Amino acid sequence: MKDATLALHVGYEKDKEKSMQVPIYMTTAYEYQDTDHAARLFALQEEGNIYTRIGNPTTRVFEKRISALERGVDALATASGMGAIFYSIANLVSKGDNIIISNKLYGGSITLSTQTLKNFGITAKYFEPTNPSELEELIDDNTKAILFESIANPALVVPEFDEIVKIANKKGVITICDNTIATPYSVKPIELGVDIVAHSASKYIVGNSTAIGGCIIEAPFAKEKLKSKRYPQFNEKDESYHGLIYNEKFDNPFIARARLALLRDFGAVLSPFNAWLFILGLETLHLRIKAHSENALKIAKFLATHPKVKNVNYPFLENNENYKRAKKYLKYASGIVSFELSSYEEAKEFVKKLKIFSLVTNIADSKSLVTHPASTTHQQLSKEELKNAGVPEGLIRLSIGLEDVEDLIEDLNNAL
Ligand SMILES: *Cc1c(COP(=O)(O)O)cnc(C)c1O
Repeated sequence: MKDATLALHVGYEKDKEKSMQVPIYMTTAYEYQDTDHAARLFALQEEGNIYTRIGNPTTRVFEKRISALERGVDALATASGMGAIFYSIANLVSKGDNIIISNKLYGGSITLSTQTLKNFGITAKYFEPTNPSELEELIDDNTKAILFESIANPALVVPEFDEIVKIANKKGVITICDNTIATPYSVKPIELGVDIVAHSASKYIVGNSTAIGGCIIEAPFAKEKLKSKRYPQFNEKDESYHGLIYNEKFDNPFIARARLALLRDFGAVLSPFNAWLFILGLETLHLRIKAHSENALKIAKFLATHPKVKNVNYPFLENNENYKRAKKYLKYASGIVSFELSSYEEAKEFVKKLKIFSLVTNIADSKSLVTHPASTTHQQLSKEELKNAGVPEGLIRLSIGLEDVEDLIEDLNNAL
């Protein structure tokens, strides 16, 4: 089956009420047939519902659908995108290990990797995703993961997938790709050889700013890499499950361990209600990402011709640094466009005059959004630091919604 069909049908067989939509199983626990049944479930001898912290039937439908769209062997839903990034890394590392991260990542992934994980004895090194020639030298025996984004938020950088995967495979290191901005309709990182895909479902998957959540997806071939002695936790006994060895018992060892050990103990589980909103979101994601991207390209082209605009950043503009890679790897370039005005004051005035765009630090809503990083997300930085971070004072980031593009262009034109 093709993606749009998978997104609407995978993982749900109508229950006895014949409910057309997947029911919301808003429950914490499930009744066992008897103590023998309970014992079998707890010993992982039989699959079934135990407790919503480690599994829920509504959430399971969302997991199966996103796994199908990303061509995974299995998926795990998490309480947020940051939960997904954290579990992806935490499943691979222990004290003394390091990870290698793209120098263009979502802010939360940078602080997690470089600051918070440091307190647990995990360090991070940066690599350049568009020209990963130094990646191989950065990998050592304690390197457990390489993390990058398919369209980096907010820099909109597109990585050189083939090179990154080639080096990671040569060294036997797991790759994690955050596919939040691109979505599986633009690129499927697993088809390019990436081992683990992570998402913030709070963005395009839900599509209308209603719920926070995330997910991780395991490639069918990740298991081979996890057999190496780089990853002992998948090949040695887990005493918290009577000596279970993940690589022996499961075809989806990464997701199995993330669920059975990490979700069990860290507990950042997705609400079944939010899973249900993500199921609704996936039903129309293919239509929305196309419309967001078409609107965004028209707006990027309009901005590029406006005399007040210093430069426009959108991967599908022909003069963009990422254009070649974007055309090679992406079907859609998403709804995110950024551009530069000449000063802080001018940016401030511009934002004030917009009527349709809302000033919000979020992206991927059905409604158009605008951010001015210098006065919000990056306000602690000095002028010099702003420049080094690639966030000039006059930078504006737009998240183009699903309104009529002519209205959006008129709004932007008036404000300029
Ligand atoms: C928003 C975002 C996250 C974090 O997701 P939350 O659901 O807000 O926790 C991670 N990665 C990218 C690329 C994002 O845009």
